[in-house]
Amino acid sequence: MRVTQCVYPNFAFILAKFPEAISLNNGKALTKTECYHYIHCIFSNGVICLLIKAIEAHHDPRQLAFCSNFHKVIIKRRAEAKNNMVDFEEILAKALRQDKLTKEEIVRLLKTREKDRVNSLFRTAGELRARYFADKVFIYGFLYISTYCRNNCRFCFYRSENENSLRYRKTEEEVIEAAVGLAGPGIHLVDLTMGEDPYYFCGNEGFEMLARLVERVKETVELPVMVSPGVVPERVLERLAAAGADWYACYQETHNLSLFKKLRPGQNYEARLHTKRLAHKFGLLTEEGVLAGVGESPEDMAESIIVMDSLKADQVRAMNFVPRKGTPMERDITDDPLREMVCIAVMRLTLPDRLIPASLDVAGLSGLEKRLAAGANVVTSLVPPDRGLAGVAQSYLDIDENKRSIASVLSVLANCGLRAASKNDYTTWMSRRQKAISEAGC
Ligand code: SF4
Repeated sequence: MRVTQCVYPNFAFILAKFPEAISLNNGKALTKTECYHYIHCIFSNGVICLLIKAIEAHHDPRQLAFCSNFHKVIIKRRAEAKNNMVDFEEILAKALRQDKLTKEEIVRLLKTREKDRVNSLFRTAGELRARYFADKVFIYGFLYISTYCRNNCRFCFYRSENENSLRYRKTEEEVIEAAVGLAGPGIHLVDLTMGEDPYYFCGNEGFEMLARLVERVKETVELPVMVSPGVVPERVLERLAAAGADWYACYQETHNLSLFKKLRPGQNYEARLHTKRLAHKFGLLTEEGVLAGVGESPEDMAESIIVMDSLKADQVRAMNFVPRKGTPMERDITDDPLREMVCIAVMRLTLPDRLIPASLDVAGLSGLEKRLAAGANVVTSLVPPDRGLAGVAQSYLDIDENKRSIASVLSVLANCGLRAASKNDYTTWMSRRQKAISEAGC
């Protein structure tokens, strides 16, 4: 019989690869012939039927039982696969109809890794992006104004205990100069980010310096401004809004409370979440974000997306975790580069009208096309070179090479069949969103 005549050069490899065969065989290691049968059975029902006939002819009851069991498994698996495919396509169709997806459906989508399905997921995300934003993409400049922080987040390069961390605090004049250098044509917003720097977190005086900085940047560059200062008191949010800030960004990173406590030791989950609700109260748009690959399950990620929806977050972000030197997580393995892209696509399917960033901060310019293909509609973290400014997830990547620049981004957009939106497109989107948030009474 041809099946048993095949030669597989690495028998141990086959066994290791198909441990299920061993369990089907009552936990006993298989003979070489049984392995051949097993492998061939995977490929064809017809072969296994022939096999059963052949074994019957040789009156070998042990092999016959094994093959019969396996035959049943194959048939069951194929039926399941068919049903799964139907379910998967139905979830995509449901998203296109903009019916709210259940948590189970979001989890199903988040687990997508099979190539054809990933492509279908991304195609659907692209279709929904086009429905709301056509081929237009928003572009944000990023200024990390202080890398000092009083906190000790386990994943963060800038945690207070990390002696390897790059530390600086830019002066007001340095920030203004960098903002002016950044705010050229094509840039829609300037993002002022910092750690919870004790220089600013020292009571009213410190926060007032921050508010004045926001005022000056806003007046000078005449662009919308996002502030990412960490968790600040309610009165400070009000002051930042009065100073002209348009956005407040503050990432929870996970919405699994026990994982949050591990990632952000000593910090208050509810206070962090609540600050984003308060920001809406003062007319600030909000951004919520998660890290992908820090020990969360697909169910946790689905929960995050549901919380983002309940917060009515205006911009929602997922970024793959990048291990950083000198942190407790520096040796953590990040083995699934697709995770971030799948999250982006699933966020687009669940929150189709929101802004979803493709950050240059994780994989640089070379990772931009993939993120846009997954349904992102904002490019973030453009950083001007030669000013000693750092990124967050990646401190240096592509900055001094001037690849986090508007020219580089526009060329990638063109390759993707996309283009930069006008300033008017952006401010119109913001006004509509602010109106919706205010009418919803968030
Ligand atoms: S993630 Fe933010 S709050 Fe946490 S240590 Fe880093 S800069 Fe500080």
